[in-house]
Amino acid sequence: MASRQKIGETTLRQLNTPHGVLTYQFTLKRVKNMNLRVLPDGTLRVSAGPRVPIREVERFLTSRSQWITEAVERAESRKRQAAAKDCLRLWGREIPLSVGIVDRDLPETLILTEEGAEMALWEDTPLRRQTQVLAFWKRETGDLFAARFRFWAGHFQEKYPVEAKKVGLAVKPMTSRWGSYSKRTGTIALSLYLASRPPEFLEYTIVHEFCHMLYLDHSPLFHALVEENLPGAGVIREKMKRFPIR
Ligand SMILES: [Zn+2]
Repeated sequence: MASRQKIGETTLRQLNTPHGVLTYQFTLKRVKNMNLRVLPDGTLRVSAGPRVPIREVERFLTSRSQWITEAVERAESRKRQAAAKDCLRLWGREIPLSVGIVDRDLPETLILTEEGAEMALWEDTPLRRQTQVLAFWKRETGDLFAARFRFWAGHFQEKYPVEAKKVGLAVKPMTSRWGSYSKRTGTIALSLYLASRPPEFLEYTIVHEFCHMLYLDHSPLFHALVEENLPGAGVIREKMKRFPIR
């Protein structure tokens, strides 16, 4: 048997509702009515006077459970978005990012430290953040893009009658696709945004583009060729579809 709650005391309670389990902070207050609030962080706070039986509180919460569940989900999704804004993505990892403002006689930078990533900006705007992130990826991942590209160029040159080693590489921020192959210019372009995703995305994209040297379309034969060279490619491809391009 739970001991009786005192005025001003807050307890954590749970309630089964048709819309799932609600977890809420319950405070007993010297008020007549019941109060219900969803805080910006998604916390559900309920208060009621000592004369309101807990069963009535629960009945009220159950009758509002759909609205409450939706409000909590909205708050939590806003919280996630705010947190996502302050992280640096690198090869599928999310590194905590702190942003500071510096004087204009100092350079704008983005560096990795033991705690995470630190960005120094003249002014905190999305464009300035973006510029630093792209420059960071270019600096930190350029060698890996080039090394993986050379590896696969060698692989395709050896295995198929194509001049894969003569293909040029361009790494740049692309907004509508992960990569492309131009037969005309003999160039494979890879999106710099691949640096934010798991390394297998880069691997898949390189193999995909080299396979276009043999098939220009996306026919079943093409996909079979990708799979043959990179076992598990189909699974990676499905996974990639669930991620935004940038
Ligand atoms: Zn393609």
